[in-house]
Amino acid sequence: MANILDGKKLAQEIELVLKQTIESGLKVVKRSPGLAVIRVGNDPASGVYVNYKEKACDRIGVRSFPQHLKEDISMEELTEKIKILNLNENIDGILLQLPLPSHLNESLLLSGINPDKDADGLHPLNLGRLIKGEKGPRSCTPAGVMALLKRNEIKIEGKRAVVVGRSILVGKPMALMLEAANATVTIAHSKSEDLNFLTREADLLVVAAGKPHLIGENHVKENSVVVDVGIHRIPLNEDNLNESQKFKLCGDVKIFEIEDKVAAYSPVPGGVGPMTVTMLLANTVDRWQKHCGLPLTISHLLP
Ligand code: NAD
Repeated sequence: MANILDGKKLAQEIELVLKQTIESGLKVVKRSPGLAVIRVGNDPASGVYVNYKEKACDRIGVRSFPQHLKEDISMEELTEKIKILNLNENIDGILLQLPLPSHLNESLLLSGINPDKDADGLHPLNLGRLIKGEKGPRSCTPAGVMALLKRNEIKIEGKRAVVVGRSILVGKPMALMLEAANATVTIAHSKSEDLNFLTREADLLVVAAGKPHLIGENHVKENSVVVDVGIHRIPLNEDNLNESQKFKLCGDVKIFEIEDKVAAYSPVPGGVGPMTVTMLLANTVDRWQKHCGLPLTISHLLP
């Protein structure tokens, strides 16, 4: 019977630590941690994620500065907006919710965020720190995967890890974090040949391809550990369903095919998703402690 990597439970545990950290910090400093999540346009999936993030802020005592901006905002306007958030002393973390509408230059905008307030670790300086093994804010989703593996005592050092996907948001920082934890890492991507040959080599397989049910029984090694980062809303064509029942969530992995073969896997929902939100909170609280001159007490939660 495979071990389930329960991200929901771990996220709740970490949230409790963060809440207590904020409460004790507020005995010394006057302001709560602040997080600005910038959402551009009306992409429904982004709306759902931003909503989760704002609710999570409320739960633990992070002050949220929601920025819901119009779809046709110009580069100049958005750059200016980011500059203002950079200067706001009540804001410790800034996250630009991706994807952005196609007329906006994601890379330039991410570079405009103050690296010290970069809540998703995607500023080039912080990506450089990751490559060099230096401290700095890390991208939330791979950071969440690392925390999930650590909590479940999954051995990484010396193991063969395969990451499917090479995006800046997930795949690349994931591979770098695993390499920093002394795994031997292979990155597979959309142009890789013989995907299942590569993935079957993996003691630890992290899938972030954004393709529903890409990975099945023939892609995994027996007794390996599989982390499914993918998340997809599949519409259900049935009558009499309310709004929240009109779709189901699935990942990039056919869990029903692999669950009897592997040693452990992360479910969708309830695996990596909740951990991503929690690591965003952790990055924000860590930044707040730094900005307020408080002792950095939660570093052990961050990769
Ligand atoms: P992306 O589209 O930017 O990147 C996908 C990557 O997968 C690319 O590098 C591509 O080369 C690779 N790929 C695509 N098809 C492939 C194939 N057939 N074989 C091998 N590689 C293939 O996506 P992303 O932003 O990295 O996100 C990946 C998935 O993770 C999406 O489903 C996204 O919704 C999900 N996601 C989940 C969370 C979470 O919190 N759970 C956070 C971020 C992203």
